[in-house]
Amino acid sequence: MTLRLTNTLTKTKGVFAPLDAKNVRMYVCGPTVYDLAHIGNARPVIVFDVLYRLLRHMYGAGHVSYVRNITDVDDKINARAAERGISIRELTEETARIYEDDVAALGCLPPAVTPRATEHIGEMVAMIGDLVASGNAYAAEGHVLFDVTSKADYGKLSRRSLDEMLAGARVEVAPYKKNAMDFVLWKPSTPEQPGWDSPWGRGRPGWHIECSAMAGKYLGPTFDIHGGGIDLVFPHHENEIAQSECAHHGAPIANVWMHNGFLQVEGEKMAKSAGNFFTIREFLADWPGEVLRFNMLRTHYRQPIDFTLGGLRESWKTLEKWYAVTEPLADPAPDTAFFAALMDDLNTPAAIASLHQADEMALAGGLGFLGFSNVQLKLAARVVVDDGAIAAAITARNAARASKNFAESDRIRDDLLAKGIVLKDGPSGTTWEPKR
Ligand code: AMP
Ligand code: ZN
Repeated sequence: MTLRLTNTLTKTKGVFAPLDAKNVRMYVCGPTVYDLAHIGNARPVIVFDVLYRLLRHMYGAGHVSYVRNITDVDDKINARAAERGISIRELTEETARIYEDDVAALGCLPPAVTPRATEHIGEMVAMIGDLVASGNAYAAEGHVLFDVTSKADYGKLSRRSLDEMLAGARVEVAPYKKNAMDFVLWKPSTPEQPGWDSPWGRGRPGWHIECSAMAGKYLGPTFDIHGGGIDLVFPHHENEIAQSECAHHGAPIANVWMHNGFLQVEGEKMAKSAGNFFTIREFLADWPGEVLRFNMLRTHYRQPIDFTLGGLRESWKTLEKWYAVTEPLADPAPDTAFFAALMDDLNTPAAIASLHQADEMALAGGLGFLGFSNVQLKLAARVVVDDGAIAAAITARNAARASKNFAESDRIRDDLLAKGIVLKDGPSGTTWEPKR
């Protein structure tokens, strides 16, 4: 059975052939650690975790190198640390720790290497120096910029010409830029901003160069798979390609580029302004991590996914039904239909569908293979429903309704619902029953 993957670069689904079957190499862009990760950020982590598990199964656990970086230098980080009155280091350490806990709760294996940008400034400065020497980058007013006209095929991943990019992008107009689309590799820092010494003065790296330098260090000039969310195709991944290929004498950075579709909530784009923005932390307060994981995998990774309360409940029910008859097995014994689905561009919904027909052993193996363990659901089942707290919430909701504060009464109802308590309003008052 061969693994076929959809490659954003070629826009085709092709047979995956690693450069070195003894060392299959994958890089996925990780978080910028200024704030808690949201439920959309969980999608690439879960999707590429399943791919990691599949590659480990195919080539051997010791023969897959998975790198996911941590971006811990960024202007959003500086701003947030100042806002909170803590040091940059405190903020990035705290956020990175929470991130690792969150994704572990979602059943994701830790990558082999999780490099931090601030620990690789030397590699970035060296790469920028090479790009200046090769004529692909130029220094101007303390900045170093990549000259996009120096690479004839710039735009090949997103399939845009420079004119189209210009029309669609909000480019920063700066007098020191030769071309409007030139992007920053290095920029000067004020004494208050984090900065490192460099041939171009004290400054800090741009975002794109971080991934090129770290991927190059840990995976070599060319590796097998580069992943991330679809929003990263342009400009981030386009620019990674430009930098790495020019610094590595034309060697392609990655053979296969994979991008997951976006996550929305109840049919709408998730946004703080829309009030439907959820961190992984918030979700984990109400839902076992494996329910979130299962819900994520019920949609093919390339499709947009809609997170809904109904879908989450259905996911919980299915997992409970399966756990009632079996326990996930760590050593996979899933059947051919299950593997055939995963080998076809990581078709997790089809793999899950096959489990509905599978015998107990294949079901147990399939669940284990996809990273389920039944630990969290067992814990969730032990949470005792506290009658007193529910009665108090009902009283508070009635008071809110009496004073026509419907926003508050709805909030209380939804809060209970998220905890699995459904309120019923009847002629003789409000009663409740467990969800499902
Ligand atoms: P960021 O911290 O914004 O760079 O995002 C980290 C990762 O999460 C990247 O791979 C993004 O493409 C991905 N991502 C961000 N928002 C969403 C979303 N709503 N749905 C799916 N993936 C997302
Ligand atoms: Zn990246």
